[in-house]
Amino acid sequence: MKRPLLKYKACCLIIIVLLFNIQAFCQNPRFKAIAFYTTTVERDHVWFANDALKFFGSLAEKDNFVFDTTTNWSNINYDFLKNYQVVMWLNDFPQTEEERRAFEKYMSAGGAWLGFHVAAYNDKYTKWPWFVDFLGGAVFYTNNWPPLPAKLIVDDTAHPVTTGMPPKYNAPANEWYMWKPNPRLNKDVRVLVTLDTTNYPLGKKDLITQGDVPVVWTNTKYKMLYMNMGHGNKIFTDTTIQNRMFEYAILWLGKK
Ligand code: ZN
Repeated sequence: MKRPLLKYKACCLIIIVLLFNIQAFCQNPRFKAIAFYTTTVERDHVWFANDALKFFGSLAEKDNFVFDTTTNWSNINYDFLKNYQVVMWLNDFPQTEEERRAFEKYMSAGGAWLGFHVAAYNDKYTKWPWFVDFLGGAVFYTNNWPPLPAKLIVDDTAHPVTTGMPPKYNAPANEWYMWKPNPRLNKDVRVLVTLDTTNYPLGKKDLITQGDVPVVWTNTKYKMLYMNMGHGNKIFTDTTIQNRMFEYAILWLGKK
């Protein structure tokens, strides 16, 4: 008559082990993200970074991922970066050859990148051809000034980052960048959001009067996403549409 008791004990043990594993699984963060930012750049770009730290910090708690932050860009070395599944540049980009090579290695090894606004700024003085290629060929051409709200077109609601978004929405004030070459011309680029031409002429001092302006895109050769938002302290004020896109962006990049 000992056997049923043994079976009962064995069952209890299995249940305890299972519960322990489920708990461990739930507590493990889904992924680790590291945000690089600079506090000595243009004031409006610092404001954005500060807002982004708060926004992604609370998302990390809600969505169960690690969100680390640093102002030390020399942390862009492979030994540091390899600890993270997502690297974010909030308001700056690496300047030294060493940092640039380390980032190239990280991306080629399957890392993910989320860049905002000035993070993708490049011109003839930047001298980083790999990065231009990484962006799908985009080189900064012009911008509107002052920063203004704008109507945006959601090109692609089939993508995990823009799923469930309306075909158009009004985005909070931003300084919008135009690119030449236009990354849409690259067959590997998938544009998700575009500046609506009904905004034109957009600006007062500096005007965007015509042309196609992609705002959010991914170069499908990499696990990367660029979002042009990132100027001023209004970016995170659209709590229903745009903020959800930011959330989906980091979750998509963090997904294994
Ligand atoms: Zn700006």
